[in-house]
Amino acid sequence: MKVCFNKLKNQFEKYQEEYENKALEVLRSGWYVLGKEVESFENEFAKYIGSNYCVGLASGLDALKIAFETLDIKEGDEVIVQGNAYIACIMGITVKGAKPVFVEPDEYNNLDYTKIEEKINKNTKAILVVHLYGQASNMDKICEIAKKHKLYIVEDCAQSHGAKFNNKKVGTFGDIACFSFYPSKNLGCFGDGGAITTNNKDYCEKIKILRNYGSGIRYVNEIEGYNSRLDEIQAGFLRVKLNHLDEINKERESICLRYLNEIKNNKIKLPKILDNATSVWHLFVIHTSEREKLIEYLKLNNIDTVIHYPIPPHLQKAYSKLNILKGQLPITEKFGNEILSLPLYNGMTNEEISYVIDVINNF
Ligand SMILES: *Cc1c(COP(=O)(O)O)cnc(C)c1O
Repeated sequence: MKVCFNKLKNQFEKYQEEYENKALEVLRSGWYVLGKEVESFENEFAKYIGSNYCVGLASGLDALKIAFETLDIKEGDEVIVQGNAYIACIMGITVKGAKPVFVEPDEYNNLDYTKIEEKINKNTKAILVVHLYGQASNMDKICEIAKKHKLYIVEDCAQSHGAKFNNKKVGTFGDIACFSFYPSKNLGCFGDGGAITTNNKDYCEKIKILRNYGSGIRYVNEIEGYNSRLDEIQAGFLRVKLNHLDEINKERESICLRYLNEIKNNKIKLPKILDNATSVWHLFVIHTSEREKLIEYLKLNNIDTVIHYPIPPHLQKAYSKLNILKGQLPITEKFGNEILSLPLYNGMTNEEISYVIDVINNF
């Protein structure tokens, strides 16, 4: 048997007729950018998340960049973020010259709130909370710290569409929340896409202007902006998928529950879920000190795996200018050497799941 890491085509085939109908509807409408599909999706997604406003954008990275710009975070400012974040998180912070200040992750692979306060100084403006691998972070504690020190919270929900903390969806805790709809995300379209959710009307208006050349009224440019619009056709696809998102997340959970209950190998540490938090299982990430051997063994048995992510941002060449040396974030670096994502996708068969479990248990 061969088990791929992901099979995106399953996602299309499961709701094929709905997507095809939607594609034709948009193609035949004669309106392709910033129209009724985007507006409807924004309303439906805001409602799903539990936010007042949603603005569709061209990507998750754009959402992050525009979030920090909206909050006027720039050169001289510092933003606290977990060391094991995805590189796009850091690029969002640094686009206007702000400095990322790294905090080590906790045992749930999320920001360790106990280590935030020691990094706060007079330049600190915000905390970027990345709900990594699908699991909600400890928003009780993080919101308390942000409130005490008057810091903004930006949430990166690119991997956690629908995850909850204290029964409330991520994307509703901070000042601004950023989403990606890249095809492999839980709520993915068939190309690039992103969005911001917020409860703040002024931010919503500024973001709508920023995404369209800094223009609220056609050909009148109030500020310098971007071209970061969500296409009508992608918004249409996202409306179709949003109707099925809870079912998609449930199926992913049922696969991961089998992994959690049936993988029994003391060389492997399984993921843990924080009390009061849920995961939408964007990824199933194990930790093992024998990772290279395990990857080889799985490959020999035709099972694909991926590392999310092998090089933490502070050790990337792109960020050598931060001057953070190897060894300064030991937990982040240890995670980088131990983590491994197992195959996980909608439409994965029981036989495929059992095969992965058996091979891992025999390792
Ligand atoms: C995918 C992702 C992004 C970037 O989204 P794009 O749409 O690819 O630009 C940002 N943050 C996290 C945590 C992601 O997983």
